[in-house]
Amino acid sequence: MALGIYVHIPFCQARCHYCDFVSFAGKSGQEKEAYLQALVKESEIYARLWAGLTGKSLYLGGGTPTCLTEEQLGQLFTVLHDLFQLPAGIEITVEANPGTLSGEKLSLLREVGCNRLSLGIQSFSAHELQVLGRIHSPQDVYNTYKLARQAGFENINLDLMYGLPGQSLPSWRETLHKAVELDPEHLSLYQLNLEKGTPFAELVQKGLLEEFNQDEAFVMYAEAIDFLAARGYQHYEISNFALPGKEAVHNCGYWLNEEYLGLGAGAAGYLQGVRYINEAKLEAYQTLLTQGHLPVAEQEMINKEVAMAETMFLGLRLLRGVKKTEFQEKHGITIENRYQEVLAKLKRQGLLRETRSHVALTKKGVFVANEVFREFL
Ligand code: SF4
Repeated sequence: MALGIYVHIPFCQARCHYCDFVSFAGKSGQEKEAYLQALVKESEIYARLWAGLTGKSLYLGGGTPTCLTEEQLGQLFTVLHDLFQLPAGIEITVEANPGTLSGEKLSLLREVGCNRLSLGIQSFSAHELQVLGRIHSPQDVYNTYKLARQAGFENINLDLMYGLPGQSLPSWRETLHKAVELDPEHLSLYQLNLEKGTPFAELVQKGLLEEFNQDEAFVMYAEAIDFLAARGYQHYEISNFALPGKEAVHNCGYWLNEEYLGLGAGAAGYLQGVRYINEAKLEAYQTLLTQGHLPVAEQEMINKEVAMAETMFLGLRLLRGVKKTEFQEKHGITIENRYQEVLAKLKRQGLLRETRSHVALTKKGVFVANEVFREFL
């Protein structure tokens, strides 16, 4: 069985003000060791359950995986290579933040097989980075990027954010320009979301921070699409842009609604028709594994109806859309037969387009994608 494998490392140097990911700041070396031991136990259980499990791609996300020491990263990759078959050349991505990487750590990552680096740089404005609570400066981005290229990374993604408090259109343009000047192979652009329970959301609730105007965010997104297209980046997914052939293999697996193995606290997975989420609290995650149990907190058997809806709204995130023959092979019914009325309505509204082979979002649909997706639920 060949699957995408996701491994969650829930540690960060500090919490960003907008973050609602499963990540913890200020954990000691001992606490990280204990977590890694639990992660190894979880990996061993899955390797036993599915002997010969082969990775189609491997993604180390977080948190900030590069918060781990070189030794910890080296040991983790040794275990992953021992337990799972990771054929040479598959995409192996590590998420990293500028300011958490040295030349030595980057070389180590290359030695253990990492061939793609995803850098959370977010902005080139020192002020915006400070507002976001990021630990790095724009200069750290340049230093880290240079070190990554020197270490041999030929596939680098940069994460950028727009719709930030106080962010102006000229400032966003400058961030885009500076990002592209670095010649990354891939760019991910995310609009800031105010997630419940984050310091940002609380400030907005108290009236101390103004929520970003959605129309202005649309303008920023629209400009970015045109700007990146003019520089050779293909807009292949709602938030993602890549040079030809550099689309994120691992993430494409999610959008194609493929099954994948998720390991680590708070990680999600999709195996044998069941979606699951692991315990997010470190103690609960570790205790279950110490007792020899999988650390699953919630699981849901995906029935045929839900699976079809997921194929549609995940697949429509890809700008090329959902391939009709793939839908039919997977679900035993054509898209037209299953979603005749929904398709007609969305096409009438100019949000979907249909070709002989695909159903895809229109340009207008890309801007209101969530509304389109809701129609399939
Ligand atoms: S680096 Fe990422 S995971 Fe860590 S706190 Fe910031 S946004 Fe959250």
